[in-house]
Amino acid sequence: MISDTLPEQLSANRFIDAKEEISGPLDPQDYKRFGEMATLVSGAKVALRGFREPYGSKLIVGELQAEAQMTCQRCLKPVTVVLESSIRWGLVFSESEMQDVEKDLDPILVEEGQIPLRQAIEDELVLLLPIMPIHESCKSEWISDSETIDISENKSPFAVLAALKNEQGF
Ligand SMILES: [Zn+2]
Repeated sequence: MISDTLPEQLSANRFIDAKEEISGPLDPQDYKRFGEMATLVSGAKVALRGFREPYGSKLIVGELQAEAQMTCQRCLKPVTVVLESSIRWGLVFSESEMQDVEKDLDPILVEEGQIPLRQAIEDELVLLLPIMPIHESCKSEWISDSETIDISENKSPFAVLAALKNEQGF
């Protein structure tokens, strides 16, 4: 199933039992919380597939590909960041099941039989945002700046020692 816009929710049982697949573009309008942190560039997309493991765990796996515009923390101009993730969601049906989810899965709480699809995608997007967005070119400038600082710091212990010696009259 390829949809123009992804539904806000998915029926958990149907999606898992029928091994359904869904893919589609992410409409920035649908991700307002994310929109407060970064601007989703058009062309973002997600592809998901539901299935049940032999011992019963209900999983959704897939790929998320997006780009977002943020503000470079060095030059304060817009910078485009690539957000890519392999999705591995483990469906849980009560809060208490959250702890039982395998370590490599992110628990998604199903409420009244519905997977909160958009909310889960939005959480995924938010987690992918860099804490410190910065241009590659700005990053290398930053590193060379901090190297300069390092050199002067390396010198300073000697300066302190010299000052001490003078004080103590050596
Ligand atoms: Zn920059």
